[in-house]
Amino acid sequence: MPDKSEMTDSENEAEIKANSDEEEDLVNQELENLKNDDSPSPSPQAQQNMTGSQRSIQSSKSKGSRNSVVGDSLASVRSQSVGSPMPQFLKERLKVLFVYPLEKKYECPSCDEVLRYPVLFEECGHRVCSHCFETEIKRADNRRCPTDRGKIDVDSATIDKEFNKVILGLEVKCSNHEWGCKWEGEYQQIQEHLESCEYGDILCINDCGAKFQKRFLQKHLDKDCPKKIIACSYCDDRHLREDKKEHIQECPKIPLPCPNKCDKTLSISRDELDKHIEENCPKTKISCDYEGIGCEHRCSREKLPKHYKSDIINHVKFIYGLAMQNKERLDKHDASLVEHVNLIQGVDRRIGDLEKIAHNAMLWRVEDYTRKLKESKAGNLETLFSPTFTTSKHGYRLCASVCLNGDGKGKGTHMSIFVSVLKGAYDALLKWPFDYRVTFFLLDQNDDPNERKHIKFSIKPNPCAENEPFLGRPRMEKNASFGGAKFVRHDDVETRKYLKDDTVFIKVVVDCDGMSEP
Ligand SMILES: [Zn+2]
Ligand SMILES: [Zn+2]
Ligand SMILES: [Zn+2]
Ligand SMILES: [Zn+2]
Ligand SMILES: [Zn+2]
Ligand SMILES: [Zn+2]
Ligand SMILES: [Zn+2]
Repeated sequence: MPDKSEMTDSENEAEIKANSDEEEDLVNQELENLKNDDSPSPSPQAQQNMTGSQRSIQSSKSKGSRNSVVGDSLASVRSQSVGSPMPQFLKERLKVLFVYPLEKKYECPSCDEVLRYPVLFEECGHRVCSHCFETEIKRADNRRCPTDRGKIDVDSATIDKEFNKVILGLEVKCSNHEWGCKWEGEYQQIQEHLESCEYGDILCINDCGAKFQKRFLQKHLDKDCPKKIIACSYCDDRHLREDKKEHIQECPKIPLPCPNKCDKTLSISRDELDKHIEENCPKTKISCDYEGIGCEHRCSREKLPKHYKSDIINHVKFIYGLAMQNKERLDKHDASLVEHVNLIQGVDRRIGDLEKIAHNAMLWRVEDYTRKLKESKAGNLETLFSPTFTTSKHGYRLCASVCLNGDGKGKGTHMSIFVSVLKGAYDALLKWPFDYRVTFFLLDQNDDPNERKHIKFSIKPNPCAENEPFLGRPRMEKNASFGGAKFVRHDDVETRKYLKDDTVFIKVVVDCDGMSEP
């Protein structure tokens, strides 16, 4: 194809003598530029720049036929001095597509490509590329014009700048024409165009490794680039596109359907799903509110109201059962409360009674006489015991007892009264057997103390051997009791004022005169 021309690197030194003094400086300057800018192969800097620059890259789809630019960095093109007649791109291996077939006069007879920075031979007016001039002609032993084989004086050859201008003004197509670029312009503009040509291949700016025409960059970034940082549309997270899948797996705000499929249109963010299931989801299986009192029913939350309606009888039964249990418990509590109250009252009374012990005497109050006598007659109540008492602070410990319906000879007709000696803390220091006189009184409660006539029964223990079980130092908790079986006749109890407010008072006096104190 004659409209195509490959530019190759200039190399080594160029020593071209200028035709006129005027041009000499300029040409020397140009040659200096050539030397400085030339590199035999792509520089490391060029390779680095490949990714981000506008350079077209040998595409895998071109299969070698695609017009391409390879070689030196283009970055240096722009920095080249304005006065230089040989732009950097002319040194590139740039395939140039001319709009019109290239005329023979623009072709280099040496390399058959478009003349690149032509050198004019004074002898015949023919031209060759400066590159070809330097590498082919100048180095040959027999220096001849390649067009007509005429002998040449290399020293008189000059750079044909005018002709070069004409060549640079030739119309060319974009090197990416084959891939769709419709650009056409002057040869000298092609580099500038290629820098912005949307049809040239570039590598992704995110270093993902993808290669595509520049015009697809935005699309690639928007849709495909795995190294593009994207924002999660649900939460605040930002991550590489390639990590999106991973993020979706754990994004707290991603809307998910309810696992119970309660509502097909419903979606709940992941971090609120548990709450939904726990507190709201109508399909969550939950226990009946009456579980605590026996209902074992479990169903979805939405069906529970129906259960409450249909099982109302059962629930009432459960509640009733619970109420009864509570009642029993309360009754038991009530009963024990009464017991306690009685106990406290009893203790209270005993304390009261104990306070009455003074001067070897004990005053005993027996309430509820009528009922107790009745029970005693029925055989349900044998003996009433008084609070225990001591004859002095460290004296004998005693306890009186009364049989309201009588005992022994008094049974059925009399109230019998007895006393027993109890084991006491100071027994070891006391005198044994116990032989002090004991006197029992049934007190007359007449309002007028002068009218009172107490019933009295006195007994002086006989400390003989037979009476040891009664009077000896107690071996068990309590000695056998002694006293009067016929203390008071039943009829007499109810005469005068012995019985008042259904209460009788019994007084026990021990005549130890303080002698019991050790
Ligand atoms: Zn040439
Ligand atoms: Zn010639
Ligand atoms: Zn283009
Ligand atoms: Zn990319
Ligand atoms: Zn997210
Ligand atoms: Zn749900
Ligand atoms: Zn239930």
